[in-house]
Amino acid sequence: MKLFNTLHRTFETIKPIHPPEVSLYACGPTVYDFAHIGNFRTFVFVDLLRRSLKFLGFRVKHAMNYTDVDDKTIRGAQKAGERLQDYTSKYIHCFLEDCDTLNLERPEFLIRATEHIPQMIAMIQKLIDQDYAYISEDGSVYYRVNAFKDYGCLACLDRAGLQAGARVSQDEYVKESIGDFALWKSWTPEDGEVKWESPWGAGRPGWHIECSAMSTEYLGETFDLHCGGVDLVFPHHENEIAQSEGASGKKFVNYWAHAAHLLVNDQKMSKSAGNFFTLRDLLQKGYEGRVIRYTLFATAHYRQTLNFTWDSLEASKAAISRLDDWIARFSAYAVKGEWSHQSFIEKFKGALEEDLNISEAMAALFDFVRETNKRMDEEFPVGDLPSVWNQINSVLGLATVSHEIPATIQALLEARKVARQTKDWTGSDRIRDEILALGWIVRDTAKGQEVKKL
Ligand code: AMP
Ligand code: ZN
Repeated sequence: MKLFNTLHRTFETIKPIHPPEVSLYACGPTVYDFAHIGNFRTFVFVDLLRRSLKFLGFRVKHAMNYTDVDDKTIRGAQKAGERLQDYTSKYIHCFLEDCDTLNLERPEFLIRATEHIPQMIAMIQKLIDQDYAYISEDGSVYYRVNAFKDYGCLACLDRAGLQAGARVSQDEYVKESIGDFALWKSWTPEDGEVKWESPWGAGRPGWHIECSAMSTEYLGETFDLHCGGVDLVFPHHENEIAQSEGASGKKFVNYWAHAAHLLVNDQKMSKSAGNFFTLRDLLQKGYEGRVIRYTLFATAHYRQTLNFTWDSLEASKAAISRLDDWIARFSAYAVKGEWSHQSFIEKFKGALEEDLNISEAMAALFDFVRETNKRMDEEFPVGDLPSVWNQINSVLGLATVSHEIPATIQALLEARKVARQTKDWTGSDRIRDEILALGWIVRDTAKGQEVKKL
């Protein structure tokens, strides 16, 4: 499979360190509020990637963190008058509910930053020992960006330019250089009871160190693939590289993949801009989770910005309804016989292998739907479509409703068929109404009765 590797700005074939397993780390949510659907664009992208890797024959070992300590979570908990852990647990619970609504597969490791403080302290100590980090007067620890020669490799920064333009502001006097970032923040009264002991005094970890320490813990010092939204390239991921490679002396990550933003009126959807929708907002408006999921992964390539509109949700709804009709139809299709799906499966696979070319994959699917519908019109065999759909849906995750026709409905259809054969139209209509009352609608076609769930 080829992916666009942000590290080299080129398409590269994924060659895992321990094939067929791909080790994957994705930065998770900051759990101080509901995630918005912009956040979920990135999480749905990671889910599509993980499902595609599995479909293409890889095994996936996936870790994701919860940022459950930072300025926002601490402030939120204080405002709510709750302990930090209780406050963040609530939002973790909501996040998982939302992930289920969007049918996101659970990563193998879902881990809280606050449960890995010793690993972070150990990594910071390693960095201090190797002069990549220094302790400031107030007991905070900073990363010395100038000490890491590859700083800027991911974001393609011009270091010379950075230095020349740098000015140290008054409140940053504790840092040696403007680009240095906090690994450990010494306790201040605003932090209240949130603090951990460390060799440098009480305090809490910086945001960047949590991902370095936790990815190392679960995936090793070097792993295959690291993902997130494009806003994380700098400084977060750049800093992760500096920390991890500084501490281990080894390459941190081989492939980096970033999702472009979800926009509203050409602006990034974000909490701070106030232009966001949560998943719950959209559910309340009557949209199903799978319609939102479809909109987030199928209507634009993951590296293209996606403009959120109500029309795009409606278009997704229509596309899913076409799939539903097709599934209902092939589930009830009685003509048996072999027919090869190989060329469609190859096309679908081939599209995913090219940097997750979702529009080509979906075009192949809808061509296939058209072709098989036509074959069913003509009563030709279509092979084992339920099994093809299972394979494809393992990637799409559209969790369509079951279209198995219940025995009661089948018995009523049989009775109605007899009524019609004996020209008992009143009886036929009565049975039709009975079927309708059970939530199914009957249509009389040239080939007999067709039934569809309402
Ligand atoms: P946060 O909870 O802010 O740490 O963000 C969680 C994830 O959402 C990160 O991978 C961000 O890059 C991503 N993200 C934030 N805003 C957007 C957006 N408008 N579109 C796509 N991804 C986003
Ligand atoms: Zn991260």
